Amino acid sequence: MPDPTDDSRRRIAYVLPVYNEQDNIAVFHAALTEATTVRDDLDYEFVYVNDGSRDASLERLLDLRKADPRVTVLSLSRNFGHQLAVTAGLDLVADDKSVDAVIVMDTDLQDPPSVSVDMIKLWEDGVDVVYGERRSRKDTVFKRSTAYAFYWVLDRLASIEIPRNVGDFRLMDARVVAEVSRYREHGRFLRGIVAHVGFRQEALLFDRDERYAGETGYPLRKMLSFAANGILGFSTAPLRMISRLGIAISLLSVLLAVYVVSVRVFQPDQSVPGWAFLGVGMFLLGGIQLIMMGVIGTYLGRVYVEAQDRPLYSLSLVAREGAATPGPRR
Ligand code: UDP
Ligand code: MG
Repeated sequence: MPDPTDDSRRRIAYVLPVYNEQDNIAVFHAALTEATTVRDDLDYEFVYVNDGSRDASLERLLDLRKADPRVTVLSLSRNFGHQLAVTAGLDLVADDKSVDAVIVMDTDLQDPPSVSVDMIKLWEDGVDVVYGERRSRKDTVFKRSTAYAFYWVLDRLASIEIPRNVGDFRLMDARVVAEVSRYREHGRFLRGIVAHVGFRQEALLFDRDERYAGETGYPLRKMLSFAANGILGFSTAPLRMISRLGIAISLLSVLLAVYVVSVRVFQPDQSVPGWAFLGVGMFLLGGIQLIMMGVIGTYLGRVYVEAQDRPLYSLSLVAREGAATPGPRR
C-alpha cells in the first residue's frame, strides 16, 4: 500500500471537464483508475469540473468522491464552456505546490486513459508538455473538414505555431501550468496559450475513439466562437489585411481613372459606359467596407470584454480532500 505521506512520490493531477456526461462518468472513472494502477509509484488526484451540467452529472461525481477520496469535484455556477471549465481545474492545481504534473482530458472516453499514462513516461524523460496528436479520429466528416479548414487558416494567420490535429488532451509540467494560469484572457483558446508559453513540447500519437455515450457539447455555435477566439487571440493579421485590401482597391481605382481620362482625351466622340459598372461597384465596395468594419468591430468587442475584466468563472462548489479551498482568481 503506497504511503500518502511520503513526500518523494510524484503527484499527478487530472483535470477533467464534465458537461452532461452522466452516462460516461462511472465508466470513464473506472477506465482511468484502471489505467493508472500500472503506475502505483505515483500519487493521483482526479479533479472533475462540472460545467453547469443539466443532467445528473454532479450527483454522479459526488458519488465517485464517496468511493474514491482522490476525486475532487469543482462545480461551476453555470455552463461556462469547456475552455473555462478546464481553466478552473488548472487554477486549482496551479495553486497546489504538491502537484508535479497535470493531465487534461475529456470525460467521454474519446481520449484513451492508457495514453495519458504513456504521456507520464515522456514527462519523466524531461518533456514539459506532451500533447496528444490524433493519428486517426472517428468524428463526422463535417467536424473533420471544418477543423481542417480552421487550422489551415490559423496556420497562415497566427503568430505562433499551433500544432494541428491536437485537442486539449495533454500533459503539462507544473511549471507550465503555473505559466498558463497567468494568462487571464476571456476569449480563451487554451491550446494556443500552451503553445505560446513555450518549454519543451512533444507530440504523442494516439487514435481518438468515438464518444462513449451522450452527445457532443460542442455544437456549431460553440465551435465557431472557439475558432474566433483562436484567430482573434493569436493574430492581428485580419486587421492588417484591411489596409492591404484598401491599398489594392485604391490602386485599382487609379488605373480606372487613367482609363477614363484617356478615353476622354483620345476618343472624345466615345463616352465611357457607365451606370451598370457604377451600380455593381457601389454595392461591391459597400459590402467590402461593411465586412471590414465587422472585422474591426470583432476586435473591438474583444477589447471591450477584456476591459470589463469580469471574473472568468464562478464556482458553486469545491469538494476537495483536506485543503483549504481557494476562491476563483481574476
Ligand atoms: N465540455 C464542457 N463544457 C461544455 C462542453 C463540453 O466541459 O460546454 C466537456 C465535455 O464534457 C467533454 C469535453 O468538454 O469532457 C469535450 O466536449 P465534447 O466531447 O462535447 O466535444 P467533442 O469531443 O465533440 O469536440
Ligand atoms: Mg468528445
